Amino acid sequence: MRLEVHLFVLIGLLLLMKPCCSPGAAAAYVNVILWFDTEDYLLPADDDAAKRLAEMLTARGIRATFKVVGEKARVLERRGRRDVIAALDKHAIGYHSNLHSVHPTPSEYLADCGWLDGVAEFVRREGGGAADVRRIFSVPALVCYGQPGSSWAPQAIGALKDIGIGTGGIPCYVDEGEHVGLDQKPFWYVGALNVYHMGENCTRMELHDPADLEPAKQRVSAIAERLGREEGGGMISIFYHPCEWVHREFWDAVNFSRGANPPREQWQVPPQRTPEETEAAFQRFGQYIDHIRSMHKVRFVTAGDLPEIYPDAVRNEGASEADLAAITARLLAGAGSGIDFQVLGHRAYSVADQFEVLTRAVATLSAGEKLKFPVQTKGLLGPDSSPPPPGQGTRLAWPAFRDTTRDALDFIETQRQVPSRVFAGADAVAPADFLIALAAAYDSYRSNARLPLGEGVTLGNKPEVLPERHIAADTPKLFGDWIIHKEGFRAPRILEQARLQAWTLKPALVRQ
Ligand SMILES: [Zn+2]
Repeated sequence: MRLEVHLFVLIGLLLLMKPCCSPGAAAAYVNVILWFDTEDYLLPADDDAAKRLAEMLTARGIRATFKVVGEKARVLERRGRRDVIAALDKHAIGYHSNLHSVHPTPSEYLADCGWLDGVAEFVRREGGGAADVRRIFSVPALVCYGQPGSSWAPQAIGALKDIGIGTGGIPCYVDEGEHVGLDQKPFWYVGALNVYHMGENCTRMELHDPADLEPAKQRVSAIAERLGREEGGGMISIFYHPCEWVHREFWDAVNFSRGANPPREQWQVPPQRTPEETEAAFQRFGQYIDHIRSMHKVRFVTAGDLPEIYPDAVRNEGASEADLAAITARLLAGAGSGIDFQVLGHRAYSVADQFEVLTRAVATLSAGEKLKFPVQTKGLLGPDSSPPPPGQGTRLAWPAFRDTTRDALDFIETQRQVPSRVFAGADAVAPADFLIALAAAYDSYRSNARLPLGEGVTLGNKPEVLPERHIAADTPKLFGDWIIHKEGFRAPRILEQARLQAWTLKPALVRQ
């Protein structure tokens, strides 16, 4: 063998040895999550495209995330494509709904639901497909879910823990859209780790435009450079659909556009690209991926790596005495304007987390027991209906407030959600208002070494729940821009539920 060949092999080995994911050093890296919505169950060429993508990435030592539609998994099984299943199984397997674009889609059937009925309906309609994907791909659990098109709803996220009872549920939500987002970075919402609305940190190369290869390389390099410089690391989201390599038009647009819902017998395969076009797109994609792989301090991660990279320190460690003091001080300082998630060191507290720790703390103290630190949290969902209108600054005597706090603790222990209202006798109090009162009571205990037994507490601060600002406004485009939904389709109740769940929103912080 000639020297150049030795060198070539050595360089190849070094590239393959590039670390994939060692979460301990996560902060130092720009992570690239590469995900494929694997959904076309009509055009058989899509099976081969998915297989080739999986294999070309495996050959490069890269693991991607394939979010598989239930019907796609069943079709692969029916067609005897064990080779495709085996190729994808080298990667992380997520879920992408049962039938994707057959009406009603998730946003359509959840449009008029409340919380619990919406969660139950999502589990009923999508749970079977998730079980099929798990069985056909022989995976114990699915790493993530993401919605078809713009068919998003918070009830879908709330249902993920219930999909596949006994498998630990689905911990992550990976997709792209604008319904909820937090500074173009991963975040916690409705108890799941979300990579969503990544904005400028979401990029791609136009597969079928040869002129886009070099600009696409520059775009991804610029993002990695910015994240490295400004944040010391971060997350880049890149997504494709295997069918994009082989079709001229999306399989579902051919059949289900603007509410069309032909019966199964009439489903049409989409028009296919020439083999030359498909081959050229694979070649360019290989070059694009090789460019990313060669970048310094950049590595590929899967949705399965996310819980390790972004642990929830509040859930794992609980709230320290110093944290509780800081939370209280900030709540009281901001009471006039609003309440927000709080980041203290490597711990991020959603408003729901703050509600939970303060309810536990004040209920414990008011029972005459010693408060032990750290205060543990189990995690709460947001309220499931709008709060009552704020009171007029009423003063509540201590015994009444104590009993209200005990009842609130019982509620969160039983329901695992922030109550939509707490009761002070016959009066319903908004949970945000009650949270400020809890903070005042705890602050009194800290300052005076006793609870405000003589003074009582004041209700009626009317604080705004500020994370609601991160929920999209209801526009005809938000759901209606997806060609599968009817033109101008709107789902205001979904956004109302989304705003209530803003109580659970907080940044996902990289493991230190
Ligand atoms: Zn899709």
